[in-house]
Amino acid sequence: MTSSMLDAYAQIVGETVISHLRQLAEPLAGMKVVHVNSTKNGGGVAEILHRLIPLKRELGIDARWETITGEGEFYECTKKFHNALQGTPVGISNTLLEVYEKTNERNAEALRPQLEEADIVFIHDPQPAALLNLCPNRKGLWIWRCHIDVSKPYRPVWKYLKKFVVGFDASIFSLPAFAQSLPHTQCIIPPSIDPLSEKNMDLSQDEIDSVYSRFELDPDKPIILQVSRFDRFKDPLGVIHAYKLSKKFIPLQLILAGGTATDDPEGEMVLNETQTAVADYPDIHVLLLPPDAHRIINALQRASDLILQKSIKEGFGLTVAEAMWKGKPVIGGDTGGIRLQVVNYHTGFLINTPEGAALRIRYLLHNRDKLREMGQKAKAFVMENFLITRHLREYLTLMVALAHNEGERIEL
Ligand code: UDP
Repeated sequence: MTSSMLDAYAQIVGETVISHLRQLAEPLAGMKVVHVNSTKNGGGVAEILHRLIPLKRELGIDARWETITGEGEFYECTKKFHNALQGTPVGISNTLLEVYEKTNERNAEALRPQLEEADIVFIHDPQPAALLNLCPNRKGLWIWRCHIDVSKPYRPVWKYLKKFVVGFDASIFSLPAFAQSLPHTQCIIPPSIDPLSEKNMDLSQDEIDSVYSRFELDPDKPIILQVSRFDRFKDPLGVIHAYKLSKKFIPLQLILAGGTATDDPEGEMVLNETQTAVADYPDIHVLLLPPDAHRIINALQRASDLILQKSIKEGFGLTVAEAMWKGKPVIGGDTGGIRLQVVNYHTGFLINTPEGAALRIRYLLHNRDKLREMGQKAKAFVMENFLITRHLREYLTLMVALAHNEGERIEL
């Protein structure tokens, strides 16, 4: 997938979209653009960067991806940031905050030459946000890309992080509801999925069916699935509760497929809680998958009847778009980025409780025509709004606007 990558997208979204991307990228040719986050594996940010960087490169931009590294206490601190930004009141000790700052200092030593030279730097989420002040001779524009649901952040923690964020030249949030009071340009760019990645490409029926024997699934019982890191915000226990309520009325099996991200220290605890909750339920399959199990997740999504994403908070929820792209309706938590994707009663259902989820599970499994119709609408909605080509177009537009903005007005 090198020179023909964009041509392959043209097969899906049409030539016009691709030629628009090429035009937008022209004034950016040769620019040094660096993206920095904290993990190459696990979670939506890594998922997106794996695909976005090669595409930017194919468009002639010198795009790179760097990750910062830290020890246990660093991830403990940044997980607390994550929880606090999504509204949980958490105290963070000064010791942990010092580890955060020191870890950024150590990473800055290694990255400084590259970051100071770059024309544009995208810093993803809070983990590397302190790098900005540690690169005093930066020549380019720095953009903070926040993927988290910061609609109601826990104020003391946001106040601490804001002092790093205010220095950026712009911020990007996924939804208008997440925008903050900041002294710079804020843009709304929702994330996207890649229809050609192993996670989302078409699969043969044989490959889809292979999940039955591989995970000892019953081909005669409907499958409901949630794919997620084991994280409290994804509410795996709520999903299990919804399953237990639904199975009283309809034979059913539930798959909770997930893994842990290298920058998420709480995953194991939540996984243990989940395993305990399913101990007496042979039709609940908790699958701990390796980070490269993209085709397996793809096949599981395609083999399922419907998909759950019962998050309590969600920055975007790539798993929702992934499922919808496969023609599956999604029953999703009425929160954050899920609201953008699940159009209630059209591409799925928005729910707030396990009882609500159970009601919708029963409804869809009993009304197969409706299930199919919603699945088709879901796929069309993703085609229109949440593919990587739209995402790339918005990134390019922002880069052109910021790099060539010489006055109050932005001419595109
Ligand atoms: N994912 C995966 N393996 C897992 C769990 C999740 O590959 O075990 C992928 C999932 O398919 C999606 C991404 O990781 O592409 C998760 O992104 P999302 O926005 O749903 O949630 P996040 O983890 O970023 O909060």
